[in-house]
Amino acid sequence: MITKTHKNKKVLKQGMLDNVMRQFDNAADIIGLNPNIRKILEVTNNELVVHFPVRMDNGEVEVFTGYRVQHNNSLGPYKGGLRYHPTVDIDAARALAMWMTWKTSLAGLPYGGAKGGIQLDPNKYSIAELERITRRFTYALGDNIGPELDIPAPDVNTSSQTMAWILDTYMSTKSPNERSKNMHVVTGKPVGAGGSEGRDRATGFGVFLTIKFWAESKNIDLKNKKYIVQGFGNVGYWTAHFLEEEGAKLIAVQDAYGSIINENGISVESLLAYSKANKGSILGYNGAEKIDNTEFFGLDCDIIIPAALGNQITAKNAPYIKARLIAEGANGPTDVEAEKILLKKGIEIIPDILCNSGGVIGSYFEWLQNRNGEIWQLDEVMQKLEKKLKESFTKVMLTSIERDVDMRTAAFIIAIERLEEAYTQRGIFP
Ligand code: GLU
Repeated sequence: MITKTHKNKKVLKQGMLDNVMRQFDNAADIIGLNPNIRKILEVTNNELVVHFPVRMDNGEVEVFTGYRVQHNNSLGPYKGGLRYHPTVDIDAARALAMWMTWKTSLAGLPYGGAKGGIQLDPNKYSIAELERITRRFTYALGDNIGPELDIPAPDVNTSSQTMAWILDTYMSTKSPNERSKNMHVVTGKPVGAGGSEGRDRATGFGVFLTIKFWAESKNIDLKNKKYIVQGFGNVGYWTAHFLEEEGAKLIAVQDAYGSIINENGISVESLLAYSKANKGSILGYNGAEKIDNTEFFGLDCDIIIPAALGNQITAKNAPYIKARLIAEGANGPTDVEAEKILLKKGIEIIPDILCNSGGVIGSYFEWLQNRNGEIWQLDEVMQKLEKKLKESFTKVMLTSIERDVDMRTAAFIIAIERLEEAYTQRGIFP
């Protein structure tokens, strides 16, 4: 069952949790956040850790550890992805859940924040094993998730297929009459299984749009601008896809296996085709050369798009960064120390909770369609997404000018103030 958490604030360990707490503290100090509301927001509401057995293809049983942390639901049901990665632990889930609360609040969605996943390396398991792991994890989560309670979605190493398995498992535990009412227990499903058109590209499209809005605000033409992408999964690929359409030039990519470069430009679609045929890795692509991972962030380029894991840009590599903009496709890719160095150098950062919020906005559209029995066309979804992101981007820009703060601080201020207002108006039960 769900257990109450301890105070995250006491955790001094370096990592994503430390990072998100420092980002929160910074904004809370600036706005003079009500101390009682601060106490509430700096802890997670509920934390669930499950251990569950799964039979492997060779007949042996392996026991896995899964997490779901629900940070805050004052604005609506808990919302956030499930990640399959060796780095998933309770602190990572806490940090990522908190970022979801700020992200959904900033986007003006009727959601709170949650995150979870399983600590494993998915490359070590067959598809059939991953299906059984996912289904057993869903069963272990039981009614701690639900379409009006806590709605998971894809994240690192999970996909629309993962969501389809979760949906099917969750529905199978309900009585026949209840089943179709549960379609919105997860978002990011395949279109054929109740998903929404456009949800697959929503995060990358959003990252691209925030870069485009930023460029427009500076009178910068994206044509021939050089950019590099860390991570060539769903977010990295789709961001590059839209930037390529705009005429920007992808010159380097890094994934879990290594880094490649071609100063003359890398074709996004042919790199995708190569990586699909090469077990998801970009290494060995013949349109680029391999370089050392340590060179990657210091490459001569205009825009860096970290679209992989947290804490990638640190005080170690930040001094070498030459780009003008960092667009955070990933959650928590830049740590607080690195950010100080970058801001001092005049490098701007479109913060994760704005930059990658297209994903959860797309999820909201899918959830609404399921809830109302509607099916929207792709162009309708994309237009609605663009409108929402434009609103968020404009608000962040205006707040950053009015308050004379960087974009992350501005985004946090907007997110926290919306939560503060909700708590102030409602008061605290009983
Ligand atoms: N995992 C994505 C994120 O970090 C999407 C979450 C969602 O759609 O609920 O924002």
